[in-house]
Amino acid sequence: MIDNPKEYCGLFGIFGHKNASDLTYFGLYALQHRGEESCGIVSSDSKDFYIHKEMGLVGDVFSPEVLGKLKGDIAVGHTRYSTTGSSVLKNVQPLFANHRDKSLAIAHNGNLTNSSALKKKLEAQGSIFQSTCDSEIIIHLMAKEKSPDIVEKLKGAMKSVEGAYSLILMTQDKLIGVRDPLGFRPLVLGKIGNSYCLASETCAFDLIEAKYIREIQAGEIAVIDKSGIRSHKFSSEKKQAQCIFEHIYFSRPDSFAFGQTVHLVRQSLGERLAKEHPVKADLVIPVPDSGMSAALGFSHASGIPLEWGIIRNHYIGRTFIQPHQEIRDLGAKVKFNLLKEVIKGRKVVIVDDSIVRGTTSKKRIRGFREVGAKEVHLRIACPPHRYPCFYGIDFPTQKELIAHKYSINKIKEFLGVDSLGYLSVEGMLACVKDKNNYCTACFSGKYPTKFDKKTGKLSLENKCENVKP
Ligand code: SF4
Repeated sequence: MIDNPKEYCGLFGIFGHKNASDLTYFGLYALQHRGEESCGIVSSDSKDFYIHKEMGLVGDVFSPEVLGKLKGDIAVGHTRYSTTGSSVLKNVQPLFANHRDKSLAIAHNGNLTNSSALKKKLEAQGSIFQSTCDSEIIIHLMAKEKSPDIVEKLKGAMKSVEGAYSLILMTQDKLIGVRDPLGFRPLVLGKIGNSYCLASETCAFDLIEAKYIREIQAGEIAVIDKSGIRSHKFSSEKKQAQCIFEHIYFSRPDSFAFGQTVHLVRQSLGERLAKEHPVKADLVIPVPDSGMSAALGFSHASGIPLEWGIIRNHYIGRTFIQPHQEIRDLGAKVKFNLLKEVIKGRKVVIVDDSIVRGTTSKKRIRGFREVGAKEVHLRIACPPHRYPCFYGIDFPTQKELIAHKYSINKIKEFLGVDSLGYLSVEGMLACVKDKNNYCTACFSGKYPTKFDKKTGKLSLENKCENVKP
């Protein structure tokens, strides 16, 4: 029923705070949108480590009793949606490992694009994996490094891995933030009192009243310990490939990502969309929640008033039972209901953040017709999704992407709208700073990581079938 892509993970870590696990809990709460399948916190009091991980939402997994047992002044937490590795307890992060009398917890957001090859190689050398998620590969690679120094171990491991990774690692006396050389996924540094914290998004800092300091740079290892913070570069890569879909859909609108407030970027996308695809209509109706900022921008630029025509039910848990085929359409209505009196007899322009498969949009548009809309126009605040993502976003396979299968005209017919307009790639890039520092592969097919020269395919083993970059 849900047609939206899912993010991989949310990360939070804090060093040197007496309420480390409580603040991590709140940080994860703010990052719940980045992963709803499972969550976990690992803390340390400099002697021992304390771990709690479970399937479920942050608010359900952690009680005051559980948090009370997560002692110490360092903690790292993780919310997960699985894109590699199945959704089972052994894959719930942070992962924890002991090696040569040292312990390490690791939380990962992203997707390693050479994970199968690395895993095969490590297994051939004797590594035994405890989970099926690609993040564990980093632990095994670090364990193979001869240097006892954690930064050197990380630098050594990073030489082998490819793809997208923002990491928070924790030892007994250090918290470490790492971002891959192309900086696909966000990772930010904040401070609360004298304690440093790291998070996927700044909305986590707002909740705990921490001050945003800066982004962890692409290709940076930032080590936080009792003596403060030290930065090490492990890549000389100049180009970046920040995920533009963080602005369009994933990040919370109140977060400051890649140097811009997400809500304001989305508003500009909507303004631009109104200029590229003008339409005569009575009302602009946003698809809640991620279409709201773009709809506001569309309304400002077009002069067409904004109205709530779709009401979202916020209380659908992951356990929602799919209705059987005969009453399947009820499923779409569980999440969204239409305001009939607002829509009836009006020419409406619906603004959505993106269309992936198109099945949910089709049902929604039929609903608009049923309640008597005079005309239904659809505007999408990003370009058509024609290619899969290999960097930590769970899009369906390429053949399930509606814009891969059909032309814009065919999509218009399939959805049953009077007109359809997608934002252009140029229009999208005009709304962000440093447009050359973004990945746009799922729209443009221009993948920022390398290809297998023999096959012309990405150096990915699991999902790259049918990709025509
Ligand atoms: S392919 Fe799309 S979703 Fe994936 S990292 Fe690039 S812009 Fe983001």
